Amino acid sequence: MLRLSATLLLAAAMVAQAAAPAAAIEASAGELPIILTAPHGGDESLPGCAERTPVGVRFVNRPDAHTDRLARLIAAELQRITGRAPYLVIARFHRKYIDANRRAEEAFGDPGCAAAYAAYHATVRAYIDDIRGKHPHAMLFDVHGQIAFRDAILRGTRYGSTVKALLSRAGAPAINGPDSVFGRFAAQGYNIVPGINSAPTDHVEAKNYIGGHTVEIYGSHRSDGIDAMQLEYGRDLREGAALEATARDSARAIAAFYERFLRAPPVAAKARGATPSARRNIVENAPGLS
Ligand SMILES: [Zn+2]
Repeated sequence: MLRLSATLLLAAAMVAQAAAPAAAIEASAGELPIILTAPHGGDESLPGCAERTPVGVRFVNRPDAHTDRLARLIAAELQRITGRAPYLVIARFHRKYIDANRRAEEAFGDPGCAAAYAAYHATVRAYIDDIRGKHPHAMLFDVHGQIAFRDAILRGTRYGSTVKALLSRAGAPAINGPDSVFGRFAAQGYNIVPGINSAPTDHVEAKNYIGGHTVEIYGSHRSDGIDAMQLEYGRDLREGAALEATARDSARAIAAFYERFLRAPPVAAKARGATPSARRNIVENAPGLS
């Protein structure tokens, strides 16, 4: 009898745990090799999860206002431009309960919050694994807000480390060239930090915004990661009517980056599937080569 009760209690607890995470995050798989994550925009409470108490050197429990909506709008605009949706993971819970951009030890204090935190990161990991199986190149953009540089967008890659694969195959232009995301931001008139003329590995990313837990654990400096970049939007770019313009311009910047650096080049029709001798024929019969 005692054993049965314990089993029932355990089953009830597992159902409750399973129910909470689904409500705690908003997630959708996509078709583009792009993931947008937004860990700090939520404003919902979590049943069974008590508020955090200060821990760690950078404890913050106010949300990055409107960054959940910003990520959603960027995703929709990206789909409109490219015809394909990015992957999207948004924390619905308020940061005062869980900081999803921190290690678990600093992210929450109450064990009742663990399932929602785990669900957020399990979803990001599953999407990365899915993308890695389908695409040669991919990028995660972690969407945040800050008030230190009110009219600027800040780049965080831990001084180039979390975009290691991208830098090694495409070089600095992928980070600060005209078709990079921040190159496009600058061309659209946005203030950017660091400036466009610094090298991606220079230690000039803004203090406290060099990239947090998300880019650190999912970046391409890790063997199971993809390129990852933190985007920190100033408050003026997220308020009122500015939000939609920011989202539209961000989607354009990301789409340009996708076209130039992520989209796999089409395989030449003649060469595809051709045997070595057939390929030689193509070359030998090509006009101007005889
Ligand atoms: Zn943030």
